[in-house]
Amino acid sequence: MAITRCPKCAKSISDKHKQCPHCGSSISELNDEQVLQLQREQRIKKRQMFMNHSFLALILFLGGFFCLYFLQPQEETLEWYAYTIAIGVGCIWYLINRIILVSLKKKK
Ligand SMILES: [Zn+2]
Repeated sequence: MAITRCPKCAKSISDKHKQCPHCGSSISELNDEQVLQLQREQRIKKRQMFMNHSFLALILFLGGFFCLYFLQPQEETLEWYAYTIAIGVGCIWYLINRIILVSLKKKK
């Protein structure tokens, strides 16, 4: 018995299953081309999600940066901490998303 992934919902299932126990789609009815097509669609959807995330992270980073630069709050006030954290989180979040996107591209 081997573990494969459902081509529709991408959850791990046994290759003995004729139907996915998670989403109920019948696997045996799909031919190889349809499976490949579904996997491709899933990869694109996944990449799109990480693209959106990295975009949000970039906005967070830039927002924090501009607020800190233009509003110039006093150090160690609540605003200062908020903007600094926004920059830090945005930066790390963005980098993580970029790394995931690069690794997704390599898997192709
Ligand atoms: Zn499924």
